[in-house]
Amino acid sequence: MAARVAELEAERELTLRLAQTDSLTGLPNRGAFTTALCARLDAARAAGRSAALFVIDLDRFKHLNDTLGHHAGDLVLAEMGERLRAEAHDGEIVARLGGDEFALIADGEEVAARARLLLASLCQPLTIYGRVVSPGASVGVAVYPVDAADASDLQRFADMALYRVKTRGGRRWSVFDAELRAENERRQTLEAELRRAIPAGEIEPWFQPVIESMTGRITGVEVLARWNHPEQGLLTPAAFVPIAEELGLIGQIDEAVFETACGLAAPWVAEGLIEAISCNVSPRDLLDPGFSRKLIHRLARTDLPATALTVEITETFLLQDLGLARRHIERLAAKGVRIALDDFGTGYSNVRALMNLPIQTVKLDRSLIEAVGRDARVSKLVASLLHAARALGVSIVAEGVEEEAQALFLRSAGCERMQGYLFARPMPAAAMEAHLRASATAGEAPLVAAKPLLRRRG
Ligand code: C2E
Ligand code: CA
Ligand code: CA
Repeated sequence: MAARVAELEAERELTLRLAQTDSLTGLPNRGAFTTALCARLDAARAAGRSAALFVIDLDRFKHLNDTLGHHAGDLVLAEMGERLRAEAHDGEIVARLGGDEFALIADGEEVAARARLLLASLCQPLTIYGRVVSPGASVGVAVYPVDAADASDLQRFADMALYRVKTRGGRRWSVFDAELRAENERRQTLEAELRRAIPAGEIEPWFQPVIESMTGRITGVEVLARWNHPEQGLLTPAAFVPIAEELGLIGQIDEAVFETACGLAAPWVAEGLIEAISCNVSPRDLLDPGFSRKLIHRLARTDLPATALTVEITETFLLQDLGLARRHIERLAAKGVRIALDDFGTGYSNVRALMNLPIQTVKLDRSLIEAVGRDARVSKLVASLLHAARALGVSIVAEGVEEEAQALFLRSAGCERMQGYLFARPMPAAAMEAHLRASATAGEAPLVAAKPLLRRRG
């Protein structure tokens, strides 16, 4: 009996250990790490000591995985785990938080020197399948109790420091400091304001016309969110979309903007002022398996026909989960909703995805259009993208057209539609409606900028 109990006990312990261990590196996993961090801070508090949290992220790991294969990637992760273990002093904890992210919970002394040692060790070349690989890493640090009083702040602050190094190119370390503290406070204020602003209806849709290159006629509008901030005035998405995504609030914003925009634009479509509207959705929204069903449901509550709606998605999402992307896209396409691939030319520009998914439109990113006419290679690239799109039966919208020379080039290269300050800036609904009516009564393109284009064609 006693033997059986001991056996069960041993089994239970093993199960528990396995549940807390990352099988690839043998290190504690994220769950175990969180428990350990809390315990460590409790101990430090009781002893009146400090503790440092180092978060470590490998640089360009995805590239390594893609070029050398997943097995090689696994070997690199295991080796990095070993190196970190070797850098840890007695009683310190190394964990794998997931993917290519690790953590070290250490004493709070000589943090800078420790960070330097960690980096030096992680950046040593290693040989895999006879090939020399030079891994790189970035390190973010926050210290208890000077930076943060609890585990969750400590983690967030170390992550902020890490993120800052990453955006500056990696292969460096950074400690949470006054600059990041100020940023943290700004973000917390913004968070509180955003939570208030969404239900208060302060975030509203603006519209920017999309024109047909040959005629200058407005064929549709893109919906762009604006925040009517009570003190700061009008804010563009750059000021609130990234943080809303991080806080998981972007879904609520997109829903509110979407429904209002559909309601406002439905009469424009019904009157024949435009053919369709385009709405942006965040890659975050698309990770929700219920996204397409909810969107179709919300659309049905407005008067906008499904065939007059284009949903703009980015490649980031396609790459994150192609299976889920396909389900959403096919569900929307079955209802007649069109799909546009946004910001094309900034990422992998996966032309294969275009062939395999019902995507009708590609939006050429402003960064490409900017260089058109200035950089001969970019002009060539754009011309060949247009050529490939035609072959695939995909239509192209050029974004961010600001200069007439760009418009002329794009039109002669066969780009069907354009959008940009040259034609019109984004504007509120009332202005958009007036603009559409003026265009319609003028009979032809009333846009100042579009006219010279038309004249030049004779
Ligand atoms: P995007 O989808 O690429 O939208 C085009 C952006 O380019 C818009 O910026 C627009 O105002 C700007 N733009 C248009 N023509 C020109 C031009 O000729 N020159 C220049 N320099 N810029 C031009 P905006 O409105 O600031 O939006 C930025 C991004 O925020 C959008 O990029 C889109 O990704 C995102 N976004 C906008 N509204 C929403 C929304 O309701 N939901 C979500 N999830 N994202 C949104
Ligand atoms: Ca867009
Ligand atoms: Ca875009």
